Amino acid sequence: MSHVQFVILLICVMIFGGAMGAFFGTVEYRVRNRKKLITSGCFCTSCGHILTLPEQIPVLGWIMLRGRCRYCGERIPIRYPLIEGTFTLYYTAVFLLLRDHPAAIPLAWYIFTACILAARSRGNVRPMLRGMALFALYHLIVGLLVVAVLSAPH
Ligand SMILES: [Zn+2]
Repeated sequence: MSHVQFVILLICVMIFGGAMGAFFGTVEYRVRNRKKLITSGCFCTSCGHILTLPEQIPVLGWIMLRGRCRYCGERIPIRYPLIEGTFTLYYTAVFLLLRDHPAAIPLAWYIFTACILAARSRGNVRPMLRGMALFALYHLIVGLLVVAVLSAPH
């Protein structure tokens, strides 16, 4: 793999980490409050306004909105960009540390995500398991891609 290809893959991993962090923020909220996991999109928990795509960009979306809903002015908790940033850093670090063992990468990503979800689920077991299954699906798909790209003949 050339340096350019590696950098492109690294950027994809960072985007995936941020996306999983954003998804985790909403799944955690929905599991803790026993709400439906899959809805039409991410919405303001105060006025119900559905966030536009740019507003959903991990970390940057929150900064653009200066931490407030554009429609009702309600504060968007800082924990959302913090979770997104943490996931981006963790996913990137795992990728860099384990790149010689590609199969371990999605496993390390998933275990981390599933453990925090379990710790934060307030004992709501069924929605927690559904959340874990969704994360397992995403990590399986992206994990297979990462393994395929990293194991390709150089
Ligand atoms: Zn709002």
